[in-house]
Amino acid sequence: MYHTNNNIIEQAKKLSEKGYAVFPLHGVNDAGYCRCGNINCKDVGKHPDTANGLKDAVSDMPGINSLFEGKNKNNIGITTGKRSNIIVVDVDDVNKFSELEKNTNLLRRYRCRQAKDDTFTLGIVTIMQT
Ligand SMILES: [Zn+2]
Repeated sequence: MYHTNNNIIEQAKKLSEKGYAVFPLHGVNDAGYCRCGNINCKDVGKHPDTANGLKDAVSDMPGINSLFEGKNKNNIGITTGKRSNIIVVDVDDVNKFSELEKNTNLLRRYRCRQAKDDTFTLGIVTIMQT
């Protein structure tokens, strides 16, 4: 998840309040390279910046403060499935995405950043409780 202000902890907290478990992803620098330091990185701004990846995801404030402290340039990852009670729909075609939105009220639209000036949209669907 791409955030537009410099307070990643605040953004991570907002996501956790929706019930999502979050963890830091490496960010993208102004030149469009991944902040992991590998100039040939194949997952620019999309891979975990924690020792155990998504297994380190948290949804409590002490955990968020600890994981995201000093990481304002990072992106935010959300653990999918039962942990956050969501599935993610990645639709590259904006028109198809709008069509999909019309057919469900469960889809929330999020803007993501993959590389410099390269944003895309993905939808998050909350899994229905039965
Ligand atoms: Zn990287």
